[in-house]
Amino acid sequence: MTMAFMGPPLTRFLRWAALIVGCLAVPLPVTAQDAWVENLRIHASPEKTRLVLDVNGPLEHTLFVLENPLRLVIDLPESRLRKATRQQKRGQASLKNTAIKKIRFSSEKLKDLRVVLDLAEPVKPRSFLLKPVAQYGDRLVIDLFPKQVAVAQPSIVPSSQPLRDIIIAIDPGHGGDDPGAIGPSKTYEKHVVFAIAQSLAAIINREPGFKAVLTRTGDYYVAHRQRTALARKNQADVFISIHADAWKTPSASGASVFAISQRGATSETAKWLAEKENRADLIGGVGSVSLDDKDDVLAGVLLDLSMTASLSSSLEMGSEVVKAIARINKMHKRSVEQASFIVLKSPDIPSILVETGFISNPGEAKKLRTKKHQVKMANAIFEGVYAYFRKQPPEATFFAKRIESEPTMTDYRIKSGDTLSEIAQRYRVSQRAIKTANSLKNDRLRVGQVLKIPGRS
Ligand SMILES: [Zn+2]
Repeated sequence: MTMAFMGPPLTRFLRWAALIVGCLAVPLPVTAQDAWVENLRIHASPEKTRLVLDVNGPLEHTLFVLENPLRLVIDLPESRLRKATRQQKRGQASLKNTAIKKIRFSSEKLKDLRVVLDLAEPVKPRSFLLKPVAQYGDRLVIDLFPKQVAVAQPSIVPSSQPLRDIIIAIDPGHGGDDPGAIGPSKTYEKHVVFAIAQSLAAIINREPGFKAVLTRTGDYYVAHRQRTALARKNQADVFISIHADAWKTPSASGASVFAISQRGATSETAKWLAEKENRADLIGGVGSVSLDDKDDVLAGVLLDLSMTASLSSSLEMGSEVVKAIARINKMHKRSVEQASFIVLKSPDIPSILVETGFISNPGEAKKLRTKKHQVKMANAIFEGVYAYFRKQPPEATFFAKRIESEPTMTDYRIKSGDTLSEIAQRYRVSQRAIKTANSLKNDRLRVGQVLKIPGRS
């Protein structure tokens, strides 16, 4: 399999010019080495292995696979590898869980650069160039897909089991080449939000009747449309994207919750953040080849039709999450804001984006780095989502069934010796439901305190 990208016409012209000059004045000195490979990164995801080369401009390249032993050859004519990169990559520490066994480079003395990847398994390579964006200059991206791609079957619920779990798709923003916002002391948004997302998934999976799915499970980039597609494939009931962003001034602070808007942003911050988040596909590196955009027109039509329904659900869920986070954290805005975030464009799945705080604020960045605060934030997000589902449990779920079997709403006065778990058991309600209904921050009860025991109203 061979693929070639020609450089811009000027480069081609210069090469011709060099050739002509070469014919006239022999011997030809080493041509000006105008193409450089600066740096090399590898990101492993369940879907593919990604190799990113920082280059100093759009460069010509060819890929082909050789067998016995299996290897992928990347030829970069008239290009050189920076010495530091050559030395740095000798260590090759980052090849774990990738399709690559070893990386080799041609001798520095040659005028053409050849990069050889010794492969651990057969791959289907794809390459594309990315234009400069944010902190990156030009990049050459090479994706290695496993040759026999097992088509993931959507999980089929056996018909003998009519009840199902509520599925919550958690989307940790950014990843891989896209660090997201970078705060003081090298606080990377991609790491902070991944930690919060993992805590949230653990909390959800401990709750009977709920199941979490993550749109990324490691440090790699996933395209926005791929994230929503993953949620749909897993038949998610809701989609929650988690971020921690930056603002122009370090003083901005507090968490915010967003939903999609078709008409424009509700505030300057919302607009600014949406523009910033939407650029992530460029930074994370989504090539023109890796996305299927054929359905865009149809998607647009469907979007308008079903968006209205899912938008009102998104706003309801969002306002519950705002309420829950406000109990533990400062809010930037006390209502759900709206802007056109691409990642929230799932027409059929209620979706929100939670900015857990401003990573550009030194105080918040410090807090967001701690495990304690990450867990607290994850708990608050789930409190909100849980409260939303209590009001409208999806049909044919274990959760809906449980709520149905609860006695009607009642008051209970705490007696000496009562514990939350006992009361929950007695009334056949979960402890979380009691805590949510009474805005309890912990399990401590006072004698004489009157608790609202939730149930059918
Ligand atoms: Zn973000």
